Amino acid sequence: MSVTLRDSFGRGIEYLRISVTDKCNFRCLYCMPVAGLEWLPKSDILSYEEIAQVVSELAPLGLRRLRITGGEPTLRPQLEHLVGMLRAIPEIEDISLSTNGLRLPTLGRLLRQAGLDRVNMSADSLRLDRIRSISRRNIDFDPIAAATAAEDAGLSPIKINVVVMRGINDDELCDFARLTIEHEWHVRFIELKPVGEMRELTWEHVVPSEEVLRRLSEIAPLESAAGPARGNGPARYFRFEGARGTIGVITPMSHTYCGSCNRVRLTADGRLRTCLFGDDEVDLRSPLREGLPLEPFFRSALSSKPKEHHLLQMQVGGLRALSQVGG
Ligand code: SAM
Ligand code: SF4
Repeated sequence: MSVTLRDSFGRGIEYLRISVTDKCNFRCLYCMPVAGLEWLPKSDILSYEEIAQVVSELAPLGLRRLRITGGEPTLRPQLEHLVGMLRAIPEIEDISLSTNGLRLPTLGRLLRQAGLDRVNMSADSLRLDRIRSISRRNIDFDPIAAATAAEDAGLSPIKINVVVMRGINDDELCDFARLTIEHEWHVRFIELKPVGEMRELTWEHVVPSEEVLRRLSEIAPLESAAGPARGNGPARYFRFEGARGTIGVITPMSHTYCGSCNRVRLTADGRLRTCLFGDDEVDLRSPLREGLPLEPFFRSALSSKPKEHHLLQMQVGGLRALSQVGG
């Protein structure tokens, strides 16, 4: 009998997104209210040892790829210790990090040395005034320097995720896209999703990916591309002729990728969520702290993984902000 972990629709689960904190040093317009959220009590948050335990019990069932996310994962002290513990689990082939990039220049090398393979950095503007107004933080941050630091640390591939918002940053589409000409970076334009407390943003701020592609192809023709070697997930990739990097679009609103979804999420407080947009979750923290084997809980979670999400039907009431579920 195969030990592969499959949901009730036969989808094998090989990819886990691990949220290590619900806190963040940014307050991105589309993600987190300025006042922050009601943070999880520290005692509810899984320790690094507990996270590694979950992964080591899932790995023999088919788990191969991990993404460390948040909130902002680099806020968690000594994140490199977690990376090292996950790297030591033999079945794990790929470990990536999602970050807003602010701490990449200081942490990139340490994380790489501990075994991190690659990084997805969020960047919604290349202009400091706008970076401050979108993140609602008075920070000094240069996304190009941060991506360069990650690249110099040996992290590869480098993906840069841009949430496109009409009238807020969509005049920078071409500037972001041009980065791929001389850098081997993969710039991915993400459609804004209607989650969390986005009082400042409405459906009118959503720029459909087809429009993004049309506008970019006015700079130069775009050809279909294979995308970076690892971890393509739900993106479609393109390239300007001769460019070193690629341009991707991620269209959660107008396409569904549910049929090929191979991912589950672990929240910072130890719940296994089987769909980003659903509310199904199974508590792993209690059995973990009681010393029980986790496999029956994984199986029960997967038996309720929904066939597809219902964003397009607008059944979005009560969705948790992405910072709470790991994006
Ligand atoms: N703090 C890290 C970061 O910003 O990359 C990791 C967590 S963040 C929640 C993960 C991803 O979710 C980011 O790429 C962010 O841009 C995206 N995200 C959050 N809220 C979103 C929304 N309402 N629409 C589209 N993307 C969103
Ligand atoms: Fe923080 Fe990332 Fe959410 Fe921005 S998108 S508020 S950086 S968790």
